[in-house]
Amino acid sequence: SGPAAAAAETAVEKDARHVLHPWADLSALGEQKPLVVRGAEGVRVTDTEGRTYLDAIGGMWCVTVGYGRRELIDAMRAQALKMPYYTPFGDVSSEPAAELGARLAELSPGDLNRVHFTTCGSTAVESAVRIAHFHFAARGRPEKKHVLSRVDAYHGSTYLAASLSGKAADRTTFHYEDGWVHHLESPAHDPDTSSVPAADHLAALIDRMEAEIAAIGPENIACFIAEPIMASGGVLIPPPGYHEAALDVCRRNDILYISDEVVCGFGRLGHFFSSEAAFGVVPDIIVTAKGLTSGYQPLGAVLVSERIAEAMAAAADRSKPVFSNGFTYSGHPVACAAALANIEVMVADDVCGHVRDVGPYFVRRLRELRDHPLVAAVRGDHLMACLECRVPGEEDGPTARNQALAQRVDRHCEEAGLLVRPFENLCILSPPLVVTKGDIDRIATITADALDAAE
Ligand code: PLP
Repeated sequence: SGPAAAAAETAVEKDARHVLHPWADLSALGEQKPLVVRGAEGVRVTDTEGRTYLDAIGGMWCVTVGYGRRELIDAMRAQALKMPYYTPFGDVSSEPAAELGARLAELSPGDLNRVHFTTCGSTAVESAVRIAHFHFAARGRPEKKHVLSRVDAYHGSTYLAASLSGKAADRTTFHYEDGWVHHLESPAHDPDTSSVPAADHLAALIDRMEAEIAAIGPENIACFIAEPIMASGGVLIPPPGYHEAALDVCRRNDILYISDEVVCGFGRLGHFFSSEAAFGVVPDIIVTAKGLTSGYQPLGAVLVSERIAEAMAAAADRSKPVFSNGFTYSGHPVACAAALANIEVMVADDVCGHVRDVGPYFVRRLRELRDHPLVAAVRGDHLMACLECRVPGEEDGPTARNQALAQRVDRHCEEAGLLVRPFENLCILSPPLVVTKGDIDRIATITADALDAAE
């Protein structure tokens, strides 16, 4: 296996032999035939064998303004030429980080005007929890450390973020056992399949949330973290009024409310930030990543209320006043330049308005598949949707047969030139936000055909 042999291998072969992928299926390690994507334009990607696919995953929920946008690429190039990197630590910064901090403060709800940059969604989630801990420690309440998350949540893949995630499969062998992370029940309510009215479901959820808080002791709880709509959990939508009621419980118990908008922010639900615009709540902290740069560069950000930032600064232990959290690449200048150009494109093209226009059509077209014999449920909101697959006669959920079915649906879609994301028994769809109604028709038609072929 000398250099000549290695050079003769294709990218597909090299990848199969040498790369351990995130979320790799280890049963196929070395045997898999990875899809190596070489090019991308608009809402389509092309693999090394020249096949083109409509990308209904949006990269990984993140490519929002589409591929090949010159505005973003030119901004990244210009920043790399001017100054590719300098440390963000202490009191040093870069122009793009300063500009982006100010722009995010303008776009965010309420007084969430202080921005702590990170490198991705997971590091932003971790940093948000650290901010909550630091805040209470600074106020002389270091025992307020427990975190409330929810079953079915997904908050990332670093150790703490994985511990906050609420599906066992996301945490297997990777979660803390020290007892300060608690998972409240999944709030999901599907009016199509539930026998309980939404209002009754909501009342029961909030009662049980309050009971759990009382059992842990509010004096021990720092924060509650919630995605507006659970994305990777399967596009799980809470009953109307849930976030407002949960925020009210948090306020009454001096618990910080962290809104994880890594997926639901930056236009996917038709707004830059969805907590206030779509759910009527102004959280204490918002976490964003993914669509922040439309996936062109890795970047995460934690938006913190001025009230919290000021309390941190005013009450920090004067012998140890440093917020010791951050990464070499926090707020990387080239990533911040990409984010600024992305925001400009989103505003100039009114991408949020476009999502509010085509989003309901996307959901309606997919919901036409609800009566298919292999579909247990279809859920969606604007440009995020999920089909739950079920073999006829099989129980609902991620049984081995239902998972195999979702894999078959995925394979048929791929063969027909459409990329969807299979996860357990789910097919998740989150296309770039610039999809047209024509693209949506193609997504719906190929998905319907794939279901027919998977029987
Ligand atoms: N939070 C949510 C809601 C997510 O969906 C994800 C990733 O899918 C993350 C956090 C973690 O983001 P990243 O993969 O950039 O670390």
